[in-house]
Amino acid sequence: MNLVDINTMFPTDEKCREMLTRLRWPEGVRCPRCSMDTTELETEKTLYYCKQCDYQFSVTAGTIFNDSHLPLTKWFIATLLICEAKKGMSACQIQRTLGLGSYKTAWYLCHRIRAAMAQVDKPMLDGKIEMDETYVGGKSHSIGRPKDKEVVIGIRKRNGDLRLFHAKDVKAETIARYIRENVSQDVDVIFTDDYASYPSAIKRAGVPSRKHKTINHSKKIYVIGDTHTNTIESAFSLFKRGVRGTWHHVSAKHLASYLEEMSFRFNRRKDSNLFLDTLRHMVTASVLTFEKLTA
Ligand SMILES: [Zn+2]
Repeated sequence: MNLVDINTMFPTDEKCREMLTRLRWPEGVRCPRCSMDTTELETEKTLYYCKQCDYQFSVTAGTIFNDSHLPLTKWFIATLLICEAKKGMSACQIQRTLGLGSYKTAWYLCHRIRAAMAQVDKPMLDGKIEMDETYVGGKSHSIGRPKDKEVVIGIRKRNGDLRLFHAKDVKAETIARYIRENVSQDVDVIFTDDYASYPSAIKRAGVPSRKHKTINHSKKIYVIGDTHTNTIESAFSLFKRGVRGTWHHVSAKHLASYLEEMSFRFNRRKDSNLFLDTLRHMVTASVLTFEKLTA
């Protein structure tokens, strides 16, 4: 899918609505309140009516598109641009490209697409896992954690999925929680650097220490056989290029949602249906109000 395809296939809001309807209700339109089959309103083709619970609704009701005044054609283009941009797309760029009236509209639009990307199933990772921590934001270039930087913890299955988290610190208990929530108990091996928290974190997470392999970064050793953390580090550097080059500044408050966006795109980089898959998430994800976003 590229911009020309989108303009050809979805030139009007009606065409966009047809696609969203198929993605939201592949087996026919159902009432979001009582799950009954429903029919289109005779008078207003964009609305459905449920007799069972006397409820009138549109395909975008109660989804990430809820209450948006933007034409769906613009939503579709914004979604494509965000899907295609490996290092991300800033709200400024979206505003210019779509000719949106205000930065605020573009910013809210981007955040809603990101919120849908965050609402995905995250199965437990197994096989060979790399785990690492890094720091983003702030001004200083010192090593370690300066006070003005945020902690990002990354977990990646080799040749598989990536997970990125905005963590409050790098203490063993914090790292252990991310392992428990993301790594399967029958993992083959977890590769980390020699950061002091890992042995204790891995033990607390219930993974036997024989499954933990360490690479001695502090002694400037980066690869021994298949022991390395290069694939998680390459994901970190892609994210950091996005922060520097595209978003310029990511506030601590919204860091987690940028991390979700990057992992979503990264994990689907070989998926030829990425655009439709993203739309499907958007039309099944729950509402994100401006109030909630800025609270
Ligand atoms: Zn109903």
